[in-house]
Amino acid sequence: MTKLASCLWVTCPIIIGAGPSGLATAACLKQKGIPSLILERANCIASLWKLKTYDRLCLHLPKQFCDL
Ligand SMILES: Cc1cc2nc3c(=O)[nH]c(=O)nc-3n(C[C@H](O)[C@H](O)[C@H](O)COP(=O)(O)OP(=O)(O)OC[C@H]3O[C@@H](n4cnc5c(N)ncnc54)[C@H](O)[C@@H]3O)c2cc1C
Repeated sequence: MTKLASCLWVTCPIIIGAGPSGLATAACLKQKGIPSLILERANCIASLWKLKTYDRLCLHLPKQFCDL
């Protein structure tokens, strides 16, 4: 990755959005040995869940039962 002024030269797949889809895509690529770059406009991952839901929201299902 080379940075020239405001330009960035990237030679790997670029994923727009660090929501569940973007994170899953990056994980699948990583499993195949392919690095990727995730671009997220919010200041956190899974912004829909972190910024747009109510504070008391919590996931009751164990991790292994959650899927997209
Ligand atoms: C309260 C609530 C409960 C839910 N419950 C469930 C459930 O039980 N089970 C289930 O399967 N689903 C549930 N969903 C839906 C689930 O959250 C969504 O289906 C899931 O978040 C979709 O993931 P995604 O990565 O496709 O999109 P998103 O989560 O919307 O992620 C997209 C990301 O891309 C970023 N982005 C968008 N445009 C740009 C851009 N131009 N540049 C950079 N970044 C960008 C956004 O900021 C965001 O972070 C629920 C949703 C809500 C709100």
